[in-house]
Amino acid sequence: MGISDLTIDSVLEGLRRRQFSARELAAEALRFAEAGNPRTNAYLHFCPERAIEAARTVDEKLARGEDPGPLAGVPVAVKDVILTQGVRTTCGSKLLANYIAPYDATAVIRLERAGGVILGKTNCDEFAMGSSTENSAFGPVRNPVALDRVPGGSSGGSAAVVAQGTAVVSLGSDTGGSIRQPASFCGVVGATPTYGRVSRYGLTAFASSLDHIGPFARNVRDAATLLEVVAGRDEMDSTSAFAPVPRYAEAMNGDVQGVKIGLPKEYFQGLESESGDLISKGIEALKKLGCQVREISLPATDYAVACYYIICTAEASSNLARYDGVRYTSRSAESATLADMYRNTRGEGFGAECKRRIMLGTYVLSAGYYDAYYLKAQKVRALIARDFAAAFQEVDAIVTPVSPFPAFRLGEKLDDPLQMYLSDIYTITGSLAGIPCMSVPCGTTAEGLPVGMQILTRHFDEPGMFRLAEAFERAGGADG
Ligand code: GLN
Repeated sequence: MGISDLTIDSVLEGLRRRQFSARELAAEALRFAEAGNPRTNAYLHFCPERAIEAARTVDEKLARGEDPGPLAGVPVAVKDVILTQGVRTTCGSKLLANYIAPYDATAVIRLERAGGVILGKTNCDEFAMGSSTENSAFGPVRNPVALDRVPGGSSGGSAAVVAQGTAVVSLGSDTGGSIRQPASFCGVVGATPTYGRVSRYGLTAFASSLDHIGPFARNVRDAATLLEVVAGRDEMDSTSAFAPVPRYAEAMNGDVQGVKIGLPKEYFQGLESESGDLISKGIEALKKLGCQVREISLPATDYAVACYYIICTAEASSNLARYDGVRYTSRSAESATLADMYRNTRGEGFGAECKRRIMLGTYVLSAGYYDAYYLKAQKVRALIARDFAAAFQEVDAIVTPVSPFPAFRLGEKLDDPLQMYLSDIYTITGSLAGIPCMSVPCGTTAEGLPVGMQILTRHFDEPGMFRLAEAFERAGGADG
């Protein structure tokens, strides 16, 4: 088995049989990832010392006969919006090009405690704003499946390293689709858990009420294992949930007989495309597994894009106010006054998309417009959540496409932000409702481009989501 095909289980097995040590694997994985990176630009930087150190700890535990943890020796990549102490954390922004994080995110601490070996930090849209990773200040990521295409975004780097085989699993962040959409574009598994399931401590804030950390992997089981490691209550994030973390592996028993699945009609209207055909095949495969499929309606769906882009820009405009040239960031060289310094630093440092969102967000929060836009959007958000709650009275899971189209060409949508925003039309509702949702591979188009199927379940029903996804994967996906 080559390094690019490793799974969590095969790493644990290799260590147990002493086919390699964690240090040997880390060194080899780093070499492989560094050599492959110019193809895709998926990693922004590597942290070899930290990786070797983490691997050494695993080897020492093994030598002492201790349990090295559920991620022992597993090469992991982390999106560069998640803080790693002593390691550069740029958020894909010129402003933070030299920022060294002073502490670790809780998710990072947990994954290293479980034996995970962080190889490096992955490229992303600036402050996680985008759908193609083209908004990174450090150049776009190329989709490893088709190098002239985008990997999706904003966690494009984290999806690409897993697809390319330069990490076994990775962490991304999702605010409106940034895990599921790139997972779909790159043909890997990506999961966004219930809001609050994973601590946001150390995740750079974009839109705090929507931000989630979640896993990417080449199979459902690995995604579930990584989520289980990082999930759970954290005192450092008051919005992290107290709910105990179940053993997800136990849920994945392949038995989905009688599971009730809803297909929201609003998501399938006008989806006469190859992506739509593949999702239809996927749904047929679910029926063969014994699922009961029926049409449902989520009537507030039409307002989701508008609602999301009001709430996320409002929160972003507030969160990004901290990058002022005084703390965290580089500072514009020469400014006559303090106000000029702020203006120049922010003017030179932020890319176009961040500026667009800061302006939009400031506008929707301003006196006189707050009620008309922000407050209204919050009400619509409640309606969207209510739609899901009503649907889950009738069904156990909801299945939809992840994106209306597969990976598009680099540059294709760059000049048209509204077109870009529409790539998230099917993912932002789940984010607004805060429910678990994931993308599982559902075949490829005639051109060989991957398409993902989205599965959504009730709050904290990650076990049900993973069970369905794993059964689908086990049966051969859309071809099952
Ligand atoms: N593409 C969406 C946006 O640009 C979602 C981003 C995300 O989930 N971080 O806001």
